[in-house]
Amino acid sequence: MADHAYREPSRSPSSGDVRPKPENSRSLSRQVAVVTGASSGIGTAIATALAAAGASVIVNHRPNPRSAAEADAVVEAIRRAGDTASPFPADVTDEAQVEAMAEAAVERYGALDIMVANAGIEQAAPIEEMSLAAWRQVIDVNLTGAFLSARAAARRFLSQGLRPDVSRAAGKIIFTSSVHEFIPWAFQANYAASKGGVMLLMKSLAQELAPRRIRVNSVAPGAIRTPINADAWQSDEARDALLELIPYGRIGAPDDVGRAVAWLASDDADYIVGTSLVADGGMSLYPSFRGAG
Ligand code: NAD
Repeated sequence: MADHAYREPSRSPSSGDVRPKPENSRSLSRQVAVVTGASSGIGTAIATALAAAGASVIVNHRPNPRSAAEADAVVEAIRRAGDTASPFPADVTDEAQVEAMAEAAVERYGALDIMVANAGIEQAAPIEEMSLAAWRQVIDVNLTGAFLSARAAARRFLSQGLRPDVSRAAGKIIFTSSVHEFIPWAFQANYAASKGGVMLLMKSLAQELAPRRIRVNSVAPGAIRTPINADAWQSDEARDALLELIPYGRIGAPDDVGRAVAWLASDDADYIVGTSLVADGGMSLYPSFRGAG
């Protein structure tokens, strides 16, 4: 990396300011959101950003005691900031649980306006050693879970119809995809296949649902500092290797994605339909070509 390149400090400053704003300036006031996989990482930041923008948020978590405790802490922090949230346990691969989660949003807060299908997992392995179980689990959570979450939301959006006093769209579906929806990833074939699938799931649903005023988009993060990829940033050596891939010179913070999703969900993005909003510090700009040839 060139000498003048920005080096990330060992502890990157939090880039998020999610203090609640006055009610009348909040872009998601009176809207109701579900965020899957919101007990950690990017999902927590998305839930926090949506709540800070005025939405009432269902903080979905995996149905186990550890995730439940994490989700409770997320909800408590959101409430401490004066915003509205509550937890909901559901495995996104379970059809009945996902339907119950969407129904809970309507029961608790009176509507559903925003679904963020964010839950995801990785299970890396060389292809010759990748078990069928590892393939299926990743496709199940990342792709089938995204389908079930989107379908549950679309059903509610369609039966609820346009709520012109809260949004110009009759509903918003946002997938947390990845730059690996278009960048191949050796040893993570299951993950890249799942995110490539999410890209065409998103575009197909966007095309199908746009005439009914439902906007479908993705956010495609690059390298964000979360538990899913701790191996890639916890040691100095791994962090330096990762930074070589990021022209902007820092690893992303979950808030970077949270704020992007809050914007995508708002009417400021009303004409954004069927797009993957890449939030990657330039990772997908072929940085190894810089200065070459
Ligand atoms: P994370 O591990 O902190 O978050 C994933 C969340 O999904 C966890 O809270 C986990 O409990 C939840 N989850 C897993 N299986 C679930 C299931 N069956 N039902 C409900 N919830 C389930 O990691 P993260 O980085 O915050 O990942 C969030 C999303 O962002 C994922 O879709 C991931 O693929 C995507 N992403 C992350 C990065 C990154 O660099 N961190 C980059 C691109 C995309």
